[in-house]
Amino acid sequence: MLSVAALLAVPAHAGAASPADERQREQWAVSPGALVDLPGAWQLSTGAGVVVAVLDTGTTLEHPDLAPNVWTNFGEIAGNGIDDDRNGYVDDVHGVDLTSTGAGQDLSDGHGHGTHVAGIIAAAANGKGVVGVAPRAKIMTVKVLDASGAGKTSAVAEGIRYAAANGARIVNMSLGGDQPDPRIQEAIAAAAAANVLVVCSAGNSARDIDARPSFPVSVPSANLIGVAATRPNEGRDLAPFSNFGRATVALAAPGEGVLSTGRDGGWVTMSGTSMAAPHVTGVAALMAGVSPSLPASDLRAALLENALPSALPVGSGYLYALGSVLSAATAASLQGGQRPRVRVLQAGRSGTGRSAITTAQIAVVGASEAIKDFRVTIDGRTAAVVRKRRSPFTVRLRGRSGRRLVVVARNARGKALATGARRITAVRRGKRDVRSGGDVTGGTVRIR
Ligand code: CA
Repeated sequence: MLSVAALLAVPAHAGAASPADERQREQWAVSPGALVDLPGAWQLSTGAGVVVAVLDTGTTLEHPDLAPNVWTNFGEIAGNGIDDDRNGYVDDVHGVDLTSTGAGQDLSDGHGHGTHVAGIIAAAANGKGVVGVAPRAKIMTVKVLDASGAGKTSAVAEGIRYAAANGARIVNMSLGGDQPDPRIQEAIAAAAAANVLVVCSAGNSARDIDARPSFPVSVPSANLIGVAATRPNEGRDLAPFSNFGRATVALAAPGEGVLSTGRDGGWVTMSGTSMAAPHVTGVAALMAGVSPSLPASDLRAALLENALPSALPVGSGYLYALGSVLSAATAASLQGGQRPRVRVLQAGRSGTGRSAITTAQIAVVGASEAIKDFRVTIDGRTAAVVRKRRSPFTVRLRGRSGRRLVVVARNARGKALATGARRITAVRRGKRDVRSGGDVTGGTVRIR
């Protein structure tokens, strides 16, 4: 395995030794004998530089296993009551609270579900407690479920849009309901355009959701993956509570008897497809760590193609971390030989005239070595020149407004290597409608 990794020219931030935390032996999904093979995947990636949005009940941000991996919006000043970065949300320093229409954000977890999911994805490899699937990924908290674990589809739709607009690469939704909402479908399509992968739990009703759908998992989309739950110890059997469906549920991942972070700062065991989805999300974060510009549909395809064959009633099989991450690393090295392409994922404007702020999210696909800087123009006039940085990145332009934003990647001699453009649209103030639509819940299952 190591020789293969070496051939693929693994980036310097990967290749950390397998983490060893106090209670890691109780994490059956992480053990070397589990089908997922995380210890192998960690030789290639730890998810550094990848932002994962968790749409759930909130997060205990100060938990010792999560605090090192809390996402921070550096454009926002905490507690000043102002939407500093003009993204439509006041004081969204670590995420947003869409369970209330209040201006500020209360990200605390009154339930425990969200904190548990966050730990499965990105608990730190810090010698304490447990280790997450992607121990260096960052968690963006998008609270859409209240302390009883219930929420509205309108809040979920807005949460998906927030995550995509603010730099998340993967969205985890360990939640579901019976009513479809076209707003969720539209938000997932918008997320696809912004290169965001969406991972959904299949649900805990022990039913075939090909026959009777569940939402959002049953939304058909090339950037969405549905996940069923497997049982300890190797993870070969479907958990008795898990929903399934060959057309709707692509993967099966560990979901029963999963130890992760508790809302009180400790560690607890929970069961449900809610615990299975974040295992897939974590592996996707590992993949994005080695291949930052891989399209979301390619991330999904690699997860499905590299699944281990199973006799379970799911589309592709068992989540296989090592194969999936290897595949992403290979894709990254192949992409490295392609000409660079620049994509403007978002271009938004708030305010007018001198107080206007235009924000653009920019990604580079293909070989980026020759790029030295990016020239950003608005309506043909140069608004900024920014030095090369890790893709995707955000540029914020004060006192600039206009209709069309163009980004030109240039080499050291100032020659244009690639160009991307997007129409600038107005940023709407958030939380205007987060209380309508159908019900969703994020449930766990009691195991005797
Ligand atoms: Ca803000």
